Amino acid sequence: MEKGRENVVLFPFMAEGHIILFLAFALHITQMGYSVTFVNTPLNIKKLRESFPPGSSSIKLFEIPFNSSDHGLPPDSEDTDVLPYSLSLRLLEASLHLKLPLRKLLRDLIEEHGVKPVCVISDLFFGWAADVAHELGIFHAIFSITGGFGMACYCSVWLNLPHKDTECVEFQLPDFPEAGIFHVTQLTQSMLLAGEEDSFTNFQRRNIRAWSNADAFIFNTVEELDKTGLMYFRRKLGIPVYGIGPILLSDQDRATSSRETTISAEECVEWLDKKEANSVIYISFGSQNTISASQMMNLAKALDASGRSFIWVVRPPLGFDINAEFEAEQWLPEGYVQRIHDQDRGQIVSKWAPQVEILAHKSVALFLSHCGWNSVLEALKNGVPLIGWPMAAEQFYNAKLLVEEVGVCVEVARGTSFDVRQEDIMEKIELVMGENEKGKEIRQRSWKIKQVVRDAVRDEENYKGSSVKAMQEFFTTALLKKEQAVGTASS
Ligand code: UDP
Repeated sequence: MEKGRENVVLFPFMAEGHIILFLAFALHITQMGYSVTFVNTPLNIKKLRESFPPGSSSIKLFEIPFNSSDHGLPPDSEDTDVLPYSLSLRLLEASLHLKLPLRKLLRDLIEEHGVKPVCVISDLFFGWAADVAHELGIFHAIFSITGGFGMACYCSVWLNLPHKDTECVEFQLPDFPEAGIFHVTQLTQSMLLAGEEDSFTNFQRRNIRAWSNADAFIFNTVEELDKTGLMYFRRKLGIPVYGIGPILLSDQDRATSSRETTISAEECVEWLDKKEANSVIYISFGSQNTISASQMMNLAKALDASGRSFIWVVRPPLGFDINAEFEAEQWLPEGYVQRIHDQDRGQIVSKWAPQVEILAHKSVALFLSHCGWNSVLEALKNGVPLIGWPMAAEQFYNAKLLVEEVGVCVEVARGTSFDVRQEDIMEKIELVMGENEKGKEIRQRSWKIKQVVRDAVRDEENYKGSSVKAMQEFFTTALLKKEQAVGTASS
């Protein structure tokens, strides 16, 4: 802990997406004058040490012991990204054993520095961390890397399993009726298979119920866009809920992930510079998801037939090794890559694209996205409308929020078994990019939202955005609680 600075303990779940976003949050917190103790398991801390962003001396990395083999996991499995999906639950359950090490770490910190941290902020998968912090009289908050609405729907489905009581393909959420009507295609595979007694449902329910023990809930979102979801948690948990985003991954944060790229940001920007303003479609399904082989063929044909320029991050389709080398002949129509290249129509990127630079470029008009929350925030911040093709987790509900509440998106498909036709994709592209009333409305709305998102983080003498105010309010409360605890202990 740096002398003279109040200390904040951050503890993300062991998944790359969680860790890098917590790191971005940590940098944000240090800019507010706090020091951060960043906690994780040994291999994750080692990885972070090797690629730690410069200028982060107020962040101290701290490892707590964890041995994956003790929990029936393969050796050195400390990150969901190295595990098959079927073992994710085991890692989540294994993380319950981090309770004692966290308690010891907090005790050691207090003993070493003679003062308590101002708060512990843990991942939403670590609902139990509230008990540990409270035992030691420390304020505890949960930080959600996803938005309020998406997480509210996700929780409500797990708590209620509303699709189990009905033969219909549509249903409502009993404790979240304002979220509207849902369709079974908006459920994840594990939700469809869930029952009252299965272990995933039990884990989810136990964890979600523990959230009400926290002192506060922080979302990486913007209050003005995500009020319905944030209100759900205010009502459900009865604790303060803050929208403090968008916290976005900077280039430095990205340097912590060792992604291979086939096109540099400079090359991408150079190519985009030659295109007309608002003329290019960007297509990406995020860092983990992919589509089926037949969907990929239809998407390829639709992009071709649309006559528009595009940048497409092509990952091996379902059924291929996720690390397989790019196989144009197998995955795309015959001669596709050559034709697109000869016409200078598109960039087909394998592995990893410089997404932030792409979405910030004025030539980009549309983002066909899986609606992962980081992608959503990056699109909104740049005023880029979306075509939603959610694949997993709370992405279905992020898409619902964008379509029904924010008004900057149309959906084209859901998941990998959705029978999406070439014409459907072309129709949606024309709807958003073409000269029609709906398209104009979506584009105008996206421009408005861009301003809302930017305003939320404006921190000027005469203007504080909603996210800036929320962050200040959170720390004022945490500091006050700390002082009160000290006062009580010494009286
Ligand atoms: N991303 C990127 N290049 C890619 C794919 C993804 O830079 O080719 C980044 C993207 O900008 C975003 C993150 O990876 O910040 C993906 O997070 P998101 O929440 O959108 O989806 P996830 O990968 O977690 O499903």
